[in-house]
Amino acid sequence: MIHRLNQPDYNRWACQIKHTGGCRQPIHLRGKVEHYDRATGQLLHRYSTTTEPNGVLRVPCKTRRASRCPACAEIYRADTYQLVRAGLVGGKGVPETVSTHPCQFVTLTAPSFGAVHVRREKNGKVLPCHARRNAETCPHGRVMSCTDRHSADDVRLGEPLCSDCYDYDGSVLFNAISSELWRRFTLALRRRFARLNGLTVKALREHVSISFAKVAEYQRRGVVHFHAVIRLDGPDGPSSPPPAWATADDLDQAVRHAVAAVTAEIKPLRRTFRWGAQLDTRRVTMDGELTDQAVAAYIAKYATKAAECVGTLDRRIQPLDNLDALPVREHARRLIAACMRLGSEPGLADLRLIHWAHMLGFRGHFSTKSRRYSTTLGALRAAREEHMRTEEITTGRLPLFDEDTVLVIAHWQYAGQGLSIGEQVLAAAITGTRLPYAGGGGR
Ligand SMILES: [Zn+2]
Ligand SMILES: [Zn+2]
Ligand SMILES: [Zn+2]
Repeated sequence: MIHRLNQPDYNRWACQIKHTGGCRQPIHLRGKVEHYDRATGQLLHRYSTTTEPNGVLRVPCKTRRASRCPACAEIYRADTYQLVRAGLVGGKGVPETVSTHPCQFVTLTAPSFGAVHVRREKNGKVLPCHARRNAETCPHGRVMSCTDRHSADDVRLGEPLCSDCYDYDGSVLFNAISSELWRRFTLALRRRFARLNGLTVKALREHVSISFAKVAEYQRRGVVHFHAVIRLDGPDGPSSPPPAWATADDLDQAVRHAVAAVTAEIKPLRRTFRWGAQLDTRRVTMDGELTDQAVAAYIAKYATKAAECVGTLDRRIQPLDNLDALPVREHARRLIAACMRLGSEPGLADLRLIHWAHMLGFRGHFSTKSRRYSTTLGALRAAREEHMRTEEITTGRLPLFDEDTVLVIAHWQYAGQGLSIGEQVLAAAITGTRLPYAGGGGR
């Protein structure tokens, strides 16, 4: 820390750190940017990192995972919020009339893989976990009952009542196939919606398009479920209204039908998976019980969470890692072990379970949307970067040239990542962010 403070270029370093917005693991780039006049070929401006502290430029890591970098994950969360919200009420290039289109907020759950400790509330009162009058005893001699009223931070939440009965294989296989199950759900939904209106899927497309934005969430038991916004538009997407006969009631009915109808099979094991019985589908309105803001905030919240909130790791697990030594809770360890064991079976290679063991078998994207839902994260990023560039120009870092007349040639090279412990302390002070390891982190 003292070494850094005593460097003659400390101010420039502090300025770079400020621009990373409190990124915990900034990427170091070495390189140069040259601006040429397109007409004359004359070099107008050259920026090189050779004069920067340590000869590198520090840029934000842009991770979406809060356990790795809270500052960058917060930007990702805010972008996701804007993206989901634009699809509900308009903005960011989506017309405001989109808010009048029928729209459902749907939660698709996973089936049960064995009884787990749960916290349930009714009218503000916490209920007993698994109160059974004549609870049976499992083959391992455990009574399948728990009358505790678990607190919200009880470490047993999500843990099986009997870990020897629990279907760990089923849990990780469901995670592995859940994206396929989702894909089949969207196809079945379109089919059902078309049939409800006496049309073929192809004919439906001329009148109605159905858009999705979804996010995956890990439940405490280590299995994913999905929250999705499903919206009806006219044939040209959000800018065109759906016909009057395309109603929210039909959409709701088609969702319920499709959830119950679809299956996905893991053939080598002859195991068929379907969605869990718990289905929540609610209408999104501007002013009703479920508002657009609540939905956007809900989806954005999960976009930056990964499996580590279940108590697993936020990095890949290597086949030679000693599973017993991993700093994870026992339930997660058994899920990881199931991934490692099933992943080495030749018939299941496609599921890439070893590669995704730290995600407990799930290899899908955390937040996805169909092409026509709203704007894209890329467009939001580009808009923000343009804003930052304008700011840099006004502070004199880059000369102001017209893009059409200037040729920009850039050479960049990755030169490392991260900050030393002393630099982390300084960076936290400069950007007003929390220090890593200062409690609460996902380590
Ligand atoms: Zn970062
Ligand atoms: Zn319990
Ligand atoms: Zn048992």
